[in-house]
Amino acid sequence: MTEVSSNVDPIAPDDVAILGIPYDLNSTFLRGSAEAPLRIRETLHSGSANLCVESGMDLGREMRWRDAGDLTFPPDESHLKRIEVGVSRLLEKGARVISLGGDHSVTHPILQAYSRYYSGLTILHLDAHPDLYDQYEGNREANACPFARIMEKGLARRLVQVGIRTMNPHQQQQADRFGVEVLKIEAWRSVLSMDLAGPLYLSLDIDVLDPAFAPGVSHHEPGGLTTRDVLTIIQNLKDPVVGADIVEFNPRRDPTGATAMVAAKLTKEVSALLLKNSL
Ligand code: MN
Ligand code: MN
Repeated sequence: MTEVSSNVDPIAPDDVAILGIPYDLNSTFLRGSAEAPLRIRETLHSGSANLCVESGMDLGREMRWRDAGDLTFPPDESHLKRIEVGVSRLLEKGARVISLGGDHSVTHPILQAYSRYYSGLTILHLDAHPDLYDQYEGNREANACPFARIMEKGLARRLVQVGIRTMNPHQQQQADRFGVEVLKIEAWRSVLSMDLAGPLYLSLDIDVLDPAFAPGVSHHEPGGLTTRDVLTIIQNLKDPVVGADIVEFNPRRDPTGATAMVAAKLTKEVSALLLKNSL
């Protein structure tokens, strides 16, 4: 039986559970994002900053903000199943999940779990890349493909992408096929006035940020959003957010720890958003 590494029994309905997913074997370019959960946790509790978010909410005093530990990945088991079961075990307790780390391939099994508990999901996907490849070098579970799997299985009703600046003809064809609403980078602000009918799931690829703000990612793609732009999007979401992932932070490309701090800050702000929406 698949077990989450730490004890999830204390998780209660309406908790917001942090779940580490240290998995990067589907990264098409570099390994390293498996180390993200550890680094983000270290940074959150490093003493360099406090646990308050910009609105003033102190996560350190939030009893419903819980840490569910990390998933583990035995070599003889399917990572897809491990992630799906690990997330399902939290959802069945009534928690909402914020997963940290891993390459973007983890979003497919996460949504496989979510689709059993939430119908009619809208996914808000922040990324430099559309991640809509049918397959990448023969791998249909590569980090370039998760949203093709999610849309062809009908795991979400609607997919809205923001920050995209690497669209190619194949992925444009896929976007058209699945009816994806793509806001290219120059149009990112229009997400602020969109009616994003919930329940909403937020998939946040750190490379949506310009590498000047977040160089610790596997795929550097210049011309991206500022940290403030991403915070503005998160802080202005009004529809109920039922889950989120923060993916593609690669500590091996982050010698100063600056990107870890960006990922930790975004983790805090997303946590506050989920906690606020449940009240
Ligand atoms: Mn991505
Ligand atoms: Mn990306």
